[in-house]
Amino acid sequence: MDEGMKLVVRAAEFAARAHAKHRRKDVDETPYVNHLAHVARLLADAGADAQLVAAGYLHDTIEDVCVTYDTLLAEFGQDIADLVLAVTDDKTLRWQLRKQAQIDHAGESTERVAALKLADKVSNLCSLRDTPPHGWDMDEIAKYVEWAHCVVTRLPHLNAVLYAGYQAIRGDLLARIGGSQWESNPR
Ligand code: ZN
Repeated sequence: MDEGMKLVVRAAEFAARAHAKHRRKDVDETPYVNHLAHVARLLADAGADAQLVAAGYLHDTIEDVCVTYDTLLAEFGQDIADLVLAVTDDKTLRWQLRKQAQIDHAGESTERVAALKLADKVSNLCSLRDTPPHGWDMDEIAKYVEWAHCVVTRLPHLNAVLYAGYQAIRGDLLARIGGSQWESNPR
Protein backbone atom coordinates (compact mmCIF):
# COMPACT_ATOMS: atom_id res chain seq x y z
CA MET A 1 0.00 0.00 0.00
CA ASP A 2 1.40 3.40 -0.88
CA GLU A 3 2.17 6.03 1.73
CA GLY A 4 -0.62 8.35 0.62
CA MET A 5 -3.24 5.66 1.12
CA LYS A 6 -1.85 4.85 4.57
CA LEU A 7 -1.98 8.51 5.50
CA VAL A 8 -5.62 8.86 4.45
CA VAL A 9 -6.60 5.71 6.36
CA ARG A 10 -4.83 7.02 9.47
CA ALA A 11 -6.60 10.36 9.17
CA ALA A 12 -9.97 8.62 8.75
CA GLU A 13 -9.43 6.59 11.90
CA PHE A 14 -8.18 9.60 13.88
CA ALA A 15 -11.21 11.64 12.80
CA ALA A 16 -13.67 8.84 13.60
CA ARG A 17 -12.26 8.53 17.11
CA ALA A 18 -12.03 12.29 17.71
CA HIS A 19 -15.61 12.87 16.53
CA ALA A 20 -17.05 9.64 18.03
CA LYS A 21 -19.67 11.45 20.11
CA HIS A 22 -20.21 14.30 17.67
CA ARG A 23 -23.51 14.45 15.77
CA ARG A 24 -25.01 16.71 13.13
CA LYS A 25 -27.99 18.83 14.15
CA ASP A 26 -30.58 17.08 11.97
CA VAL A 27 -33.45 15.07 13.47
CA ASP A 28 -31.60 11.80 12.96
CA GLU A 29 -28.45 13.19 14.62
CA THR A 30 -26.33 11.91 11.75
CA PRO A 31 -22.83 10.90 12.92
CA TYR A 32 -20.51 13.85 12.22
CA VAL A 33 -17.95 11.56 10.60
CA ASN A 34 -20.33 11.25 7.61
CA HIS A 35 -19.62 14.91 6.84
CA LEU A 36 -15.86 14.38 7.18
CA ALA A 37 -15.91 11.34 4.88
CA HIS A 38 -17.98 13.33 2.38
CA VAL A 39 -15.51 16.23 2.34
CA ALA A 40 -12.59 13.79 1.91
CA ARG A 41 -14.38 12.03 -0.95
CA LEU A 42 -15.25 15.30 -2.69
CA LEU A 43 -11.57 16.28 -2.53
CA ALA A 44 -10.42 12.88 -3.81
CA ASP A 45 -12.89 13.08 -6.71
CA ALA A 46 -11.55 16.56 -7.49
CA GLY A 47 -8.00 15.26 -7.86
CA ALA A 48 -6.60 16.36 -4.50
CA ASP A 49 -3.32 14.93 -3.20
CA ALA A 50 -3.34 12.48 -0.27
CA GLN A 51 -2.33 15.14 2.27
CA LEU A 52 -5.29 17.30 1.28
CA VAL A 53 -7.71 14.34 1.35
CA ALA A 54 -6.40 13.50 4.84
CA ALA A 55 -6.97 17.15 5.84
CA GLY A 56 -10.54 16.70 4.58
CA TYR A 57 -11.07 14.08 7.25
CA LEU A 58 -9.37 16.19 9.90
CA HIS A 59 -10.64 19.67 8.99
CA ASP A 60 -13.01 20.10 11.94
CA THR A 61 -10.88 18.50 14.66
CA ILE A 62 -9.42 21.74 16.05
CA GLU A 63 -12.64 23.73 15.77
CA ASP A 64 -15.17 21.19 17.01
CA VAL A 65 -13.53 18.53 19.17
CA CYS A 66 -10.63 20.36 20.80
CA VAL A 67 -7.76 18.57 19.08
CA THR A 68 -4.76 20.90 19.22
CA TYR A 69 -2.63 22.11 16.34
CA ASP A 70 0.37 20.52 18.09
CA THR A 71 -1.32 17.12 18.19
CA LEU A 72 -2.03 17.30 14.45
CA LEU A 73 1.55 18.47 13.88
CA ALA A 74 2.94 15.48 15.80
CA GLU A 75 0.57 12.95 14.21
CA PHE A 76 0.35 14.20 10.63
CA GLY A 77 3.07 16.82 10.03
CA GLN A 78 3.05 20.53 9.27
CA ASP A 79 1.33 20.51 5.89
CA ILE A 80 -1.83 18.85 7.24
CA ALA A 81 -1.78 20.75 10.55
CA ASP A 82 -1.52 24.04 8.62
CA LEU A 83 -4.34 23.07 6.25
CA VAL A 84 -6.64 22.31 9.18
CA LEU A 85 -5.68 25.48 11.02
CA ALA A 86 -6.41 27.53 7.90
CA VAL A 87 -10.04 26.33 7.87
CA THR A 88 -10.55 26.63 11.64
CA ASP A 89 -12.86 29.41 12.84
CA ASP A 90 -11.71 31.49 15.80
CA LYS A 91 -14.08 30.30 18.51
CA THR A 92 -13.25 33.25 20.74
CA LEU A 93 -15.34 35.28 18.28
CA ARG A 94 -19.10 35.28 18.49
CA TRP A 95 -21.00 33.32 15.84
CA GLN A 96 -21.83 36.32 13.67
CA LEU A 97 -18.23 37.57 13.72
CA ARG A 98 -16.90 34.10 12.94
CA LYS A 99 -19.14 33.94 9.91
CA GLN A 100 -18.03 37.42 8.80
CA ALA A 101 -14.37 36.42 9.34
CA GLN A 102 -14.79 33.54 6.88
CA ILE A 103 -15.94 36.05 4.27
CA ASP A 104 -13.15 38.50 5.14
CA HIS A 105 -10.36 35.89 4.99
CA ALA A 106 -11.58 33.79 2.05
CA GLY A 107 -9.43 35.82 -0.35
CA GLU A 108 -6.23 34.83 1.47
CA SER A 109 -6.74 31.11 0.78
CA THR A 110 -4.06 29.15 -1.04
CA GLU A 111 -5.26 26.84 -3.81
CA ARG A 112 -5.42 23.78 -1.52
CA VAL A 113 -7.05 25.69 1.36
CA ALA A 114 -9.61 27.05 -1.10
CA ALA A 115 -10.36 23.49 -2.27
CA LEU A 116 -10.86 22.39 1.34
CA LYS A 117 -13.17 25.33 2.07
CA LEU A 118 -15.15 24.71 -1.11
CA ALA A 119 -15.53 20.96 -0.43
CA ASP A 120 -16.73 21.80 3.10
CA LYS A 121 -19.37 24.19 1.73
CA VAL A 122 -20.54 21.67 -0.87
CA SER A 123 -20.95 19.03 1.84
CA ASN A 124 -22.74 21.43 4.19
CA LEU A 125 -25.14 22.49 1.43
CA CYS A 126 -25.85 18.82 0.63
CA SER A 127 -26.64 18.28 4.32
CA LEU A 128 -28.88 21.34 4.28
CA ARG A 129 -30.84 19.84 1.40
CA ASP A 130 -30.94 16.22 2.54
CA THR A 131 -30.81 16.38 6.34
CA PRO A 132 -31.45 20.00 7.42
CA PRO A 133 -30.77 21.02 11.03
CA HIS A 134 -33.73 20.37 13.29
CA GLY A 135 -35.94 23.43 13.52
CA TRP A 136 -34.39 25.39 10.67
CA ASP A 137 -36.97 27.12 8.52
CA MET A 138 -36.64 28.19 4.90
CA ASP A 139 -35.44 31.61 5.92
CA GLU A 140 -32.48 30.25 7.87
CA ILE A 141 -31.60 27.86 5.07
CA ALA A 142 -31.74 30.74 2.57
CA LYS A 143 -29.46 32.84 4.79
CA TYR A 144 -26.92 30.03 5.04
CA VAL A 145 -26.94 29.53 1.26
CA GLU A 146 -26.36 33.27 0.81
CA TRP A 147 -23.54 33.38 3.37
CA ALA A 148 -21.83 30.33 1.82
CA HIS A 149 -21.97 32.10 -1.54
CA CYS A 150 -20.29 35.19 -0.06
CA VAL A 151 -17.40 32.97 1.07
CA VAL A 152 -17.15 30.89 -2.10
CA THR A 153 -17.22 33.85 -4.49
CA ARG A 154 -14.28 35.40 -2.62
CA LEU A 155 -12.07 32.32 -2.91
CA PRO A 156 -9.13 33.16 -5.21
CA HIS A 157 -9.00 29.61 -6.60
CA LEU A 158 -11.96 27.47 -7.61
CA ASN A 159 -11.30 23.82 -8.40
CA ALA A 160 -13.42 23.12 -11.49
CA VAL A 161 -14.83 19.79 -10.27
CA LEU A 162 -15.72 21.12 -6.83
CA TYR A 163 -17.17 24.34 -8.24
CA ALA A 164 -19.40 22.38 -10.64
CA GLY A 165 -20.65 20.41 -7.63
CA TYR A 166 -21.16 23.63 -5.72
CA GLN A 167 -23.19 25.22 -8.51
CA ALA A 168 -25.37 22.12 -8.79
CA ILE A 169 -26.21 21.93 -5.09
CA ARG A 170 -26.65 25.70 -4.80
CA GLY A 171 -28.99 25.68 -7.82
CA ASP A 172 -30.96 22.85 -6.30
CA LEU A 173 -31.34 24.67 -2.98
CA LEU A 174 -32.26 27.99 -4.62
CA ALA A 175 -34.94 26.26 -6.71
CA ARG A 176 -36.44 24.76 -3.58
CA ILE A 177 -36.24 28.01 -1.66
CA GLY A 178 -37.75 29.94 -4.58
CA GLY A 179 -40.44 27.37 -5.20
CA SER A 180 -41.16 26.94 -1.51
CA GLN A 181 -41.19 23.24 -2.13
CA TRP A 182 -39.30 22.35 0.95
CA GLU A 183 -40.43 18.96 2.14
CA SER A 184 -41.35 19.33 5.75
CA ASN A 185 -39.78 16.64 7.82
CA PRO A 186 -42.38 14.10 8.89
CA ARG A 187 -40.93 13.78 12.38
ZN1 ZN B 1 -16.81 20.81 7.99
